[in-house]
Amino acid sequence: MTTRSDVVALHRQHVWPPYTSAEDHAEKEPLVIVRAEGSYLEDHNGKRYIDGNGSWWTNPLGHGHPRLLRALREQAAELVHCASSQITTPQTAMLAAELVAIAPKGLTRVHFSDDGSTAVEVAIKTAFQYWQQNGRPNRTRFVSLAGAFHGDTLGAVSVGGVPAFQSIFAPLVFDVIHAPVPDPDGFEMAVSAIEAMLKAKGDEIAAVIVEPLIQGAAGMRMWSHELLVRLRTATRAADTFLIADEVFTGYGRTGTMWACEQANITPDLLCTAKCFSGGMFPMAATLSTERIYDGFRGGSSRALMHGHTFSGNPLGAAIAREVLAIYRDEKVLAQIARKRIRIANAFDKISELSGVRRTRTLGMVGACDLGDSGYAGKRGWDVYNAALSRGVFLRPLGDTVYITPHFTMSDDTLDELLAVVADSISKSTR
Ligand SMILES: *Cc1c(COP(=O)(O)O)cnc(C)c1O
Repeated sequence: MTTRSDVVALHRQHVWPPYTSAEDHAEKEPLVIVRAEGSYLEDHNGKRYIDGNGSWWTNPLGHGHPRLLRALREQAAELVHCASSQITTPQTAMLAAELVAIAPKGLTRVHFSDDGSTAVEVAIKTAFQYWQQNGRPNRTRFVSLAGAFHGDTLGAVSVGGVPAFQSIFAPLVFDVIHAPVPDPDGFEMAVSAIEAMLKAKGDEIAAVIVEPLIQGAAGMRMWSHELLVRLRTATRAADTFLIADEVFTGYGRTGTMWACEQANITPDLLCTAKCFSGGMFPMAATLSTERIYDGFRGGSSRALMHGHTFSGNPLGAAIAREVLAIYRDEKVLAQIARKRIRIANAFDKISELSGVRRTRTLGMVGACDLGDSGYAGKRGWDVYNAALSRGVFLRPLGDTVYITPHFTMSDDTLDELLAVVADSISKSTR
């Protein structure tokens, strides 16, 4: 096998990693991960780390779940991919039906794509095209929340509201109304502003897009289901669309299958990715209502002009179906209902540590801030280093330290993860 230093040298010379300055890329030691199993990542020296980050929020069932590996192998032997506009496959069709069966009631149509960003692009373009060809061509603008993260392709960046991801591209992105969230708890003001704006000029708005209940990349900022209900009511009153970006919040992350369930609402469009394909395969879906689908009838000039080469591929579909089967058989949502209490209790204790502020938990997310610099902050990285030396991988968002573990982590491992988080925070804030 190539040595660790060979790998790092090749990495430094040729890989261009995301969100990394050239200087950090040249100087900071990357982890070299060679395998993973269950809750653990393993590096080149055989050292194991609890994956407290859930592999960038994608991993619901742990690494290498035997049933997912079997689904992958069996489907790979049958059919991996074929063009998907005139052709369908059993896996693709059955996945669509299974997804509709568990989605918020009223979402009946599924457009497959590759990742969270593309799922958001599809939602944006669907909403826009719908109004263009259904008698409301003035509805061209989108509304989102400051601090929103909806992906890194240009449409997703346009509706995004994290300056770090957006400001350099300002001349390229389209015009979006970002409702200001004045402080981490300022969502009430943002929603009131959207309500007023929809009353005044709702007929210019194509859709309001939000991450329901938790803004992930903004620093795990949490907001209440009551406010989500208010957004649903206000978008209905203005007869405009509500897009729920559940790429992070879906599949139980917030405690229920969909965050929207906690508000008992159905959005007009819902985006899913990340846990959707078990954290092992790039695959995403955008769900919409029958009303929206009906707005695309009337000939080829009215078809949704959007597609991706690997759209709905049967390999990803087989894995995504097996994820749902495991959710049923292993009662994953019931497991979450128990584990989230462990997380909440541990973060209650963490809130008492010096230097810790704004401790918050929802479902399988626990977070706290160690400073006020947000994404630009560095305090979380001290905790990252302290945790890494104790065998835990956390990936902070600047000053925000959080965990997003997989949902089937054993109680013992979860307790160990939580203890290391607390310990690493107290060591690094001293
Ligand atoms: C991660 C994320 C995305 C983007 O997903 P990718 O798979 O990285 O393209 C979009 N929306 C939300 C809420 C996310 O957390």
